[in-house]
Amino acid sequence: MIDTYGRDIYYLRLSVTERCNLRCRYCMPEEGICKKKHEEMLTENEMVQAVEVAASMGFRKVRLTGGEPLVQKNILSICQRVAAVPGIQEVCLTTNATLLPELAKPLREAGVSRLNISLDTLDEEKYTYITRRGRLEEAMSGIEAAIAAGFQKIKINAVLIGGFNDDEIEKLAELTLCYPVDVRFIELMPIGDSEEFGQEAMIPCEEVLRRLPQLTPCEHDGGVAALYHLPGALGNVGLIRPISQHFCDTCNRMRLTADGKLKPCLHSSQEFNIKGLDKDGVEQQLKEAILAKPARHAELSAKHRSESGRNMNQIGG
Ligand code: SAM
Ligand code: SF4
Repeated sequence: MIDTYGRDIYYLRLSVTERCNLRCRYCMPEEGICKKKHEEMLTENEMVQAVEVAASMGFRKVRLTGGEPLVQKNILSICQRVAAVPGIQEVCLTTNATLLPELAKPLREAGVSRLNISLDTLDEEKYTYITRRGRLEEAMSGIEAAIAAGFQKIKINAVLIGGFNDDEIEKLAELTLCYPVDVRFIELMPIGDSEEFGQEAMIPCEEVLRRLPQLTPCEHDGGVAALYHLPGALGNVGLIRPISQHFCDTCNRMRLTADGKLKPCLHSSQEFNIKGLDKDGVEQQLKEAILAKPARHAELSAKHRSESGRNMNQIGG
C-alpha cells in the first residue's frame, strides 16, 4: 500500500518475542524484561493472521526479529507458516546467532531465505562484556552453521560504538575476506538503554571510510546500507547511518511488536493495537498505521533521544 508521502510500504518487521538469551548493553536492561502476561502477547495464529492481512495489502517481505527470535519455542512453525502465505516472497530473520548451530538447517528448511546476524566485536572478553553473558565462540559457530546450511548473502551487523569497537573496524570489515558475508556498520541509536555509553559513543559511519581508504563504492542493493568493497573480498562492507543520514524518504517498513502493536515509525511512540482483533480489525488498523507514517522521525542525537518509548528488544530493531 502507498502511504501519504508516496512510499510503497511492503516490508513487515514482525517481533516474535521480547525475550533474549543475551543482554546487549545498548539494547536491554541487565535484569531482562518485566515479564508481560502470556495473554498480552500475540499468539502464533495472530502473527500469521497479521501476515496474511499484510500480504493482501501488498506486503511482500517479512523479517522475524525480537528479542531473540530463536528463543521462541515455536519459531520454526512461525517461519513455515509465514513463508507459505501467498504473496510473501521473502522471509528473513535477524538473530544473535548463538542458537544457529542447532537451528540454521531447520530454519532454511522452514523457508527462511536470508539471515542477518548481530556481532559487534571479535574479542572474546569484549563480546561477553557487551552482551553481559554471551560467548563469542557460540556466535562464530552460529555464523559457520548458517554458511554450512547454505544461506546466501548473510549480513553481519555491527553497531559502531566509539570507545568500544571503533578500534576493530578493520578486523570486522576483514571478515568479508574470509567469509561470503556482508559486514554492515550501524550507527548507535539513542534509544532505550544506549545512554550508558555517553555522547562519545555515537560516532558517524564516516569513521569506517577514514579507517579503510581502500574501500571502493559499489552498486546499491536496494537496502538501507551504502555499499563498499575491500579488494579481493567475498562480500561487501555496508554503512547504515540512521543518525548522520536518515533514510526516512525511502522507508518501506511497518513494525509489529510481540505484544501486538503496529509501529508506523521506529522513533515515534504512536502505536496501533491488533491484539485480539479479527482479520477485518487488523486490516483497518494496518491501513491506519500506514497512513500515520510520518514523513520523517524527529531529530535524533545524543541530546535528542528517540521518542519510541520502548527498548529495542521490545521493537525488533
Ligand atoms: N536479537 C536479535 C539480534 O540481536 O540480532 C534481533 C533483535 S535486535 C533488537 C535487532 C538489532 O537491533 C540488532 O542488530 C541490534 O544490534 C540492534 N540494536 C539494538 N539496540 C540498538 C541501538 N541502540 N542502536 C543501534 N542498533 C541497535
Ligand atoms: Fe538480545 Fe539482540 Fe538485544 Fe542483543 S541486540 S540483547 S541479542 S535482542
